[in-house]
This record gives sequence, C-alpha cells and structure tokens, in this order.
Amino acid sequence: MNTPTLTRRERRQLERVAVKARRGQPYIESLLAAGATLPRGSVSIVEVLHDDWCPKMRGGLCRCQPDIVILEVAA
Ligand SMILES: [Zn+2]
Repeated sequence: MNTPTLTRRERRQLERVAVKARRGQPYIESLLAAGATLPRGSVSIVEVLHDDWCPKMRGGLCRCQPDIVILEVAA
C-alpha cells in the first residue's frame, strides 16, 4: 500500500484533530471500529444515521448513538 510519509508536525496535527473529534463526537470511535473491519484497498459507503432530535442534524455536536450502516463495498 502506498502510504504518504508525514512529518512529525503533521502527525501531531492529525493526532490533535482526532482527539478533538473523539471528545466532541463519541460515535467517531464506532466509525473507526467499523472501518477497521473493511477490506484494505476497497471503497465503501458508510452512512451515519443520527436520531431526528440529535443536535448534529442542526450543525451541533452529536448526542445520540447513531446507527452506522455500510452500504457498499467495492474491491
Ligand atoms: Zn447524533
């Protein structure tokens, strides 16, 4: 697999963004877990289905436990 090489500064920036995302959006952990089950090198469509009342639907932070649905996997 062709993985781009990141500088230490870029890795730290990505880590900070990931930590921030996990704090504000707990469902990100579930999304990462779902992604880890998919075959490498494939393309998938993943839907995150929030409840109607979830603030995420209006641009806020998620407070529900959204359903994560993998719609399509193409090798
Ligand atoms: Zn939500």
